[in-house]
Amino acid sequence: MQKVLISGAGIAGTTLAYWLRRHGFAPTVVERAPEPRSGGHAVDIRGTALGVVDRMGLLGRVRELSTDMRGMSFVNGAGKTLVKVTEHTLTAGLTDSDDVEILRDDLTDTLASVAQEGVEYVYGDWITGITQDADGTRVTFARGEARDFDLVVGADGQHSAVRSLIFGAEKQFSHYLDTYLAVFTIPNFLDLDHWQTFHMTPGKMAGVYSARGNTEARAMLGFQSPELDFDRHDVEQQRKLIADLFADQGWEVPRLLREMTSSELYFDSMTQIRMDRFTEGRVALVGDAGYGPSPLSGQGTSLALVGAYVLAGSLASTRDHRSAFASYEREIRPFVLQNQALASLNQRKQTRFAQWRQIQSLRALRYLPFRSRVMKAAMRPLTEASNALALKDYS
Ligand SMILES: Cc1cc2nc3c(=O)[nH]c(=O)nc-3n(C[C@H](O)[C@H](O)[C@H](O)COP(=O)(O)OP(=O)(O)OC[C@H]3O[C@@H](n4cnc5c(N)ncnc54)[C@H](O)[C@@H]3O)c2cc1C
Repeated sequence: MQKVLISGAGIAGTTLAYWLRRHGFAPTVVERAPEPRSGGHAVDIRGTALGVVDRMGLLGRVRELSTDMRGMSFVNGAGKTLVKVTEHTLTAGLTDSDDVEILRDDLTDTLASVAQEGVEYVYGDWITGITQDADGTRVTFARGEARDFDLVVGADGQHSAVRSLIFGAEKQFSHYLDTYLAVFTIPNFLDLDHWQTFHMTPGKMAGVYSARGNTEARAMLGFQSPELDFDRHDVEQQRKLIADLFADQGWEVPRLLREMTSSELYFDSMTQIRMDRFTEGRVALVGDAGYGPSPLSGQGTSLALVGAYVLAGSLASTRDHRSAFASYEREIRPFVLQNQALASLNQRKQTRFAQWRQIQSLRALRYLPFRSRVMKAAMRPLTEASNALALKDYS
C-alpha cells in the first residue's frame, strides 16, 4: 500500500485523505495546529465541487448545515438602514441558487467525519525537511521522528510550508490583491436571523452575519491597504493592528473590536497563489497551497475540494506518480485559471463614490423588472467557472 503524507488538515487535506483511502492508499495527515481548527468565515461550495461532496455521501449533510442566508442590509455610521436586499448576499451570491454556503468549521467537521478510518492524523507537528529519490521520500518533523513516505502532498494553505521547502519562497508565487480580511465569532447581539449587515466607509468594511442558531454570529472586518508587515503567528499583534485601523469607525464597530479579543481570529491578506506547476518529483500541492484563488474569487473551497478529488483519482488511475501528477496538472490547471480570473472581476477600489454607486444600484434593483434574471446574468462568470470541470469516475 503506497504511503502518502499530507501536510494540513484543512478542506483540501481532509478531502484528499478520504479519497486516497478509498482508492487503497495509506494516508497520514500532519497538522500544525494542536487540534482541528475552528473559526473562520462562511465558505462556498459551488458547481463541480458539489459533485465531489455528493460522491462522498455528504451533500445532504452540507445542505442541512447551509447558512441559508435570506438577505443583507447596508447601514450608515449611525446604524440607519440604507438598503435591504433579498436576492443575493455579499458572501453567498444568489439566495435562490443550488450553491451551498457553509461555515468553514462545519465543513471541516463534516469532511473529517468520513475521513477517519484508515487515516492517521498527527496534530501539533509540521514538516521541516523533505528529501526525495527514485525510491521515495524521507521527511523530518519539528517534533516527531523522521519517516519515509512514497509521496508527499502540501495541503497546508496559502502559506504552505511544503511549497517553500520544495518550490521556493512564497514571495515568488503570491500576488497580493490590496485587501485584508479578519473574521471572528461573536455573540449574536444584533439578533440577526440568517441575515447579513454591513457598514462601509472608504477602504473599510465591517459586517456581521448570523447563520448558526441565533446565539452566535460571525464578524468580519475588511480593509484595503498596501501590503503590511506583521507576524502571522502573533495574534495579539494582529488584533492591535485591526483595532487601530478601525478605531475611527461608527455603527457597532467599537463593540466588534471589544468582542474580537475573546475569539479565535482568522486574519489574512487576499492573495492569489500562481504557479507554473503544482508537482515536483514525488511532491504535489493541492488547494490554496498550489493555487489559492483568494477569497475575492469566492472559489477557494471549491478548488480545494475538486483539486483533492482529481489528485487522488489521478494517482488511483495509474499508481505511477509521474503520469498521475502529469494528468492532475493537465486536468486541474484550466479549471484553476478560470476560477482565479474571477478575483479580478470582484476587485474594486472602495472609494466613497464606488460605495455610493453600489448602494444606489442595490436600491435600483428593487424596481428592475425580471430582476432575478438580471442577477443570474451578473453571476454568469462565477456559474460558468465553478462548473467548468466535469468529474471523472476514477477507479
Ligand atoms: C482557521 C481558518 C479560517 C479560515 N477562514 C477563512 C475565511 O474566513 N474566509 C476565507 O475566504 N477563507 C478562510 N480560510 C481559508 C479557506 O479555508 C481556504 O481558502 C479554502 O478552504 C482552501 O482550503 P485549503 O485546505 O487549501 O486551505 P486551508 O483551509 O487554509 O487549510 C490549510 C490547513 O493546513 C494547516 N497548516 C498550515 N501550515 C501548516 C504546516 N506548516 N504544517 C501542517 N499544517 C499546516 C492549517 O492549520 C490548515 O488546517 C480559513 C482557513 C483557516 C485555516
